[in-house]
Amino acid sequence: MISLQDLFILILFVAALAIGWLLGSRERKKTERANGSEPVYFAGLNYLLKEETHEAIDSLVSVLEHGTDSMDAHLVLAHMLRRRGDVERAIQIHQKLLANPALTPVEINRINLELARDYTSVGLYDRAESLLLKELESEAGDKKASFEYLLEIYQETKEWARAIEVSERIIGRSGTFWRNLWPRPKYLERRLKQSVAHFHCELAVEKLASAEVRAAKKHLKRALSVDSQSVRANLQLAQLFMDGREYQAALKCLDVVRAQDAALFPEALPLIVTCYKQLSDEKGLFDYLTKAMLELPSSAVAILLAQIITDQDGVDAGIRFFVNERDVRSLRELEPLLTLMAQDGDAAISCVHEAVSALFQRSHSYRCDNCGFAGESLHWQCPSCKEWGAIKPSFELDAALKTTTSELQA
Ligand SMILES: [Zn+2]
Repeated sequence: MISLQDLFILILFVAALAIGWLLGSRERKKTERANGSEPVYFAGLNYLLKEETHEAIDSLVSVLEHGTDSMDAHLVLAHMLRRRGDVERAIQIHQKLLANPALTPVEINRINLELARDYTSVGLYDRAESLLLKELESEAGDKKASFEYLLEIYQETKEWARAIEVSERIIGRSGTFWRNLWPRPKYLERRLKQSVAHFHCELAVEKLASAEVRAAKKHLKRALSVDSQSVRANLQLAQLFMDGREYQAALKCLDVVRAQDAALFPEALPLIVTCYKQLSDEKGLFDYLTKAMLELPSSAVAILLAQIITDQDGVDAGIRFFVNERDVRSLRELEPLLTLMAQDGDAAISCVHEAVSALFQRSHSYRCDNCGFAGESLHWQCPSCKEWGAIKPSFELDAALKTTTSELQA
């Protein structure tokens, strides 16, 4: 059964072929009629309509071999062959196209990009890499596509050092280079720097796995020098300091996270609690959280403070804290508040508590800002759209509550 994507590609192919066909000279039409390719073309279309993809491809290959010189049609066909697993024939088509001396640099770039995709589809990463590097150095062509595909390969093969090297080469290019190739150069430069910081963090993880702590620290510091807003680098650095029992140094890194990205500050909180506990400084923890609550109120800090107050002064004090804390109003606070209130054994409150807990269990903890992917753990690279740093804690229940409230008020 033909997939929707295959059908779409086939339609593209036929469109490309049809345009080439219409634009072709009368002479070519005569030649095609003379060598009998036109009936084969219609046979190909017939197979296509009957969803016999393999037969359709074979017939259309025959048309291209005998007739049209449309590059688009060849590229679409090679794409289909690659998808079918017939990479050797896809490579042959691309190499045959490249043999044309009349190609423009932009066309050569386009074909080489497809050839690189052929190579990676059969694991020939080195060949794809050298092709793309050559394209990046050339004077013309879509360098953005070549660069992005090269980065994709390095990330797939986890060659973080190579990914850093090629990214830094791009970052180091002049402003004119950026303006000519990307419509929003500043935005893309910032995104690229964020990715490079993540590559350093990945290298730090690898170094740590082989007990190279100093090398890991060096990579995390380099991550921060490329992207001073890298929350991940500070969290990993803090963990390294904690492993070395340097809790004050760890706390400094964790405090920076609050200013870097308030949405990700809850990720630092468990480490902050551990550091203060290791330092046997519970008052220090309470003072720090109180100050954090005053400067930047958040549900996560409020919940932590309520826990400490409950442990020290009892359930009623914990409930009073929640009720009096008016700077933050989030559904996230409702669950721990109901947990405290349900301790009295009130059946109605227990019932509401169970319902709210079930609601939270069904909602996702994290969501990708870029593609909407939702999950229960924080991925630094989105598993779906592969964007770095796009996954953030989700406030879907609060958003739903806001929408419902405004609808009711309207
Ligand atoms: Zn995503």
